[in-house]
Amino acid sequence: MAITGGCHCGAIRYQVEGDPIVHGLCHCADCRRSAGAPMVGWLMFPSAALKVTKGTPKAYKSSEHGRRHFCPDCGSGLFYYNEQMLPDLVDLQSATLDDPNAIPPQAHIQVAERLGWMKDVHTLPSFDRYPPMG
Ligand SMILES: [Zn+2]
Ligand SMILES: [Zn+2]
Repeated sequence: MAITGGCHCGAIRYQVEGDPIVHGLCHCADCRRSAGAPMVGWLMFPSAALKVTKGTPKAYKSSEHGRRHFCPDCGSGLFYYNEQMLPDLVDLQSATLDDPNAIPPQAHIQVAERLGWMKDVHTLPSFDRYPPMG
């Protein structure tokens, strides 16, 4: 099956073939700061399975061997490569899929760097939209 996705503005579109190797929710500090979000979902595929079908992502060297690819127009984070740690593999940010509900995550990873309050967020009050305004 072909899985499709893209950035927020639509300048970058991609397609991946086959089944993902794993879907993890990463709590590392690099992902957090890069995304500006408490955690980032990553779907791993063989890098040959990924085709960028529209536009050209920009690569940012986020660590010695890590490369984060993002949309130069809207800033959406898209792909992560690390030829040292993850040779011939690509991680793609699962929230950029056209249907991010389709492939549930299997694990939390890098929880050694997780924000302390993240482990209890499921206990917070929830609202369909926003809390009532006083
Ligand atoms: Zn974009
Ligand atoms: Zn991470």
